Amino acid sequence: MSSARALRGGPVAKRIRAEAAAGAATFEELAGARPALVTLQVGADPSASAYRDSIRRAVVAAGIRHQHLGLPVDASPADLLAAIEGLNQSAATHGVLVLMPLPPHLGVDLVLEQLSPLKDVDGITPTNAGRLYLGLPSLRPSTPQGGIELLDYYDVPIAGRRAVVIGRSPVVGRPLAMLLTQRDATVTLCHRTTPDLAEITRAADLVALAAGSPDLLTGEMIRPGAVVVDFGVTVVDAHLRGDADEESVAMVAGAYTPVPGGTGPVTTAVLARNTVAAAFASLLGSLDESDGLVGALPTAAGRAASG
Ligand code: ADP
Repeated sequence: MSSARALRGGPVAKRIRAEAAAGAATFEELAGARPALVTLQVGADPSASAYRDSIRRAVVAAGIRHQHLGLPVDASPADLLAAIEGLNQSAATHGVLVLMPLPPHLGVDLVLEQLSPLKDVDGITPTNAGRLYLGLPSLRPSTPQGGIELLDYYDVPIAGRRAVVIGRSPVVGRPLAMLLTQRDATVTLCHRTTPDLAEITRAADLVALAAGSPDLLTGEMIRPGAVVVDFGVTVVDAHLRGDADEESVAMVAGAYTPVPGGTGPVTTAVLARNTVAAAFASLLGSLDESDGLVGALPTAAGRAASG
């Protein structure tokens, strides 16, 4: 029998969406329009379309406008750049999220280099990534930021803990390692070529999974009482699977995030709040109060109102 606590994302997401909704209402009073998010998709990858639909639900629930812009799967690099530039220039668009994966002939670098950092609600541009690295206010990647807020919500301590992050992608693993480091965890960042993964995970108080590889982590690989945060999302036989073998992990862990229902709902809620932060950033013309932390919003609003 398992004694592990399931850390559900629902209540955390609800709280973050309420913060986003409060900020969206303030923005609307000030600017006369609601914050607006555009999702840009090239082609029709099913996982991208599913993500787009859950983004729409989360942002609309927070009083944010959602628009979708679809390009054909054979769109050229020039087409993609023109679409992004059009959104950069559009005063009615506050946030832009480019859905991944892009078709193989379009490199993600095109997006990173072109997108306005002020509209970059997933924190992927060099400006936001660099500001995160330096500890400056930035639009933070929503998945790792949501993971940190989920741990805080359930009072899981981070400072002083040995944390292992598996996966070094620029949107999840790497920024998560950075955020955990800023919160005084001691972080080991693992990836595909890490030897003896189990030896490393067994020493950890906190194991974060961001590899997209089902059953990567099993109960034998963790210390009794460890906390497992699973960001993995893979469709296996029409079911969503995380990176943990949930059954064996739940027998050993102290707490874990289930898939689905763990980190996922928090991600889209943070995206909604980032859209509101981006809307304020558009008034201020800077990222300096963009941390997505609602505490900063009234200040930003006040300053924009006073010129
Ligand atoms: P995401 O954006 O969801 O984090 P990516 O596919 O972009 O996913 O990146 C996957 C990351 O996970 C890479 O850093 C890769 O090295 C790591 N990874 C994938 N499979 C394994 C594995 N079996 N063991 C360790 N790391 C893995």
